[in-house]
This record gives sequence, C-alpha cells and structure tokens, in this order.
Amino acid sequence: MARFFGFYIVCMISFGVSPAQILTLTTEEIAIRTSRLEHFNGPVQLRRWEIADDTVDEWKQWEMVDNYSFGINRGRMSMIADLQSLHPYFRDKVLELIQKCKQKGIELALVETYRTHAKQTEYRTMGRKYTRTRAGQSKHQYGLAVDVVPIIDSIPQWRNMKLWRKIGPIGERLGLRWGGRWNKLFDPGHFEWTGGTGTYHLAKGNFPPVPQPEKYPCLDEDLRELQRHWKAWEVEQATLARTLRQRQRSTVTASTAKTVLRGGEE
Ligand SMILES: [Zn+2]
Repeated sequence: MARFFGFYIVCMISFGVSPAQILTLTTEEIAIRTSRLEHFNGPVQLRRWEIADDTVDEWKQWEMVDNYSFGINRGRMSMIADLQSLHPYFRDKVLELIQKCKQKGIELALVETYRTHAKQTEYRTMGRKYTRTRAGQSKHQYGLAVDVVPIIDSIPQWRNMKLWRKIGPIGERLGLRWGGRWNKLFDPGHFEWTGGTGTYHLAKGNFPPVPQPEKYPCLDEDLRELQRHWKAWEVEQATLARTLRQRQRSTVTASTAKTVLRGGEE
C-alpha cells in the first residue's frame, strides 16, 4: 500500500500538483486507504516499501498462500493472495468489501488474488469441480477477481451459507459480480469487476475504464507496472509447473517399473 502511495507521490511530484488538487476523497475513502496498513493479512504491514528502489522485484514480496492453508485442496502451487497484485480500482473495492464486512463483524481472509495462467491450468487439471475456465479466461488473470473466505475463530467458513448470504450482497452493492449467484459453478468466495469489458479485450491488454478516473491519476503507469509483475510470476510458476510435471512423470515411471518387477498389474 505504501508502495502505492509512493508511486502516487511520485506522480504528484511529476505533475506538479498537490494531492488535494487532484484527489477528492471522502473521509471514508481516506479511512479505507489508510486501513490498508492495518489489514489483517499480516505481512503486508510489516513490509518496507521504498519509492526509489524495490520496484523491479516487488512481485517477489507479494503475500502467498500455501495449499490447504484454508482447509481445502487448492493445488500444489502456492496462490498469490496480495492486494498489491490487483488492478488498483478493483483493489480499492476489495478493501471496501473487507472493511464493510468487518463493520458487520465478519472477518474475511484473502485466499487468492491475481492468478497466473499456469495456476489456472493447474486448477483445470484438478477437475471440473475446481474450474471450467481455461487459462486466460478467468478474471483472476487480469487482477480483476478475488477469492475470499470468512473466518470465525481461525476456522474458514466455506459452508456457512448464512455468512455468504450476508457477504455476497455487500460486494454486489459495491458494484462487484458475485460468484454466489452462479448456478453452474457456485463460487461464493469469488468477486470480480470488469466494468463491462470482455475477456477478449482483457486478453489483448485493454483494461476497463474506471469510474472517477481522477482518483487514479497514475492508473496507466500502475497497470504497466502490474503487468510486469504478473509476467514475472508467470515465468516463475510456469517453470515450477514444468518441474512438478516432470517429477510426477518420473514417479509414475518408477511405480510402473516396480509393478513390472512384481510381475503383475494392480
Ligand atoms: Zn475466483
């Protein structure tokens, strides 16, 4: 977040205007932005963000979530669960969602934010109950979707419909599309925003125009930077996926050899 502010400050300096001249944030919006520092997603607040350096490798510091961290199988590759990995406008909406749920006594945990094509492909190989969406087709691949789960006493509440029914409409009132409305693949933890832009345009690198663009004076630069970080993660996870596949193949070969040695099939 401070990184975001840092960039924002740099933009302000380069435009030669004061923040007050450009940004007309309400008290609530200021509170939301400030609260990023206190967001429960621990390590975010412990990070040190610098303006001058630390821009190239920012992606390496994104918060990650390991498989089974929230009690369910989400594949062998870690999930990116960091607000910094999201489109700036959508990021603010997710923060508002977290904030508004908090006001109602609901604590939300971030399960996944930006998702690489490699990770999406991993979900596809895990079966239709995980996803039917191909790599490049999910809004997660454009920093425009998030998966959350409510937590009570440190326990994820995946099946707590009473809670989901409260959370979903809060997100919808913020203009987000809620996966809890989907009949085919009911996904109550999923929220997304595309501003009406289809996957075809997103895949071509065209992002939706944001409402109140004056609040995002550095949006184009922010998005270009984000895309660089996404690309870096793509390389990282594509390499990891290859390694995992090779390992799996050699395990299968080894077990086949064992079966042959035992002289039979099982
Ligand atoms: Zn999702």
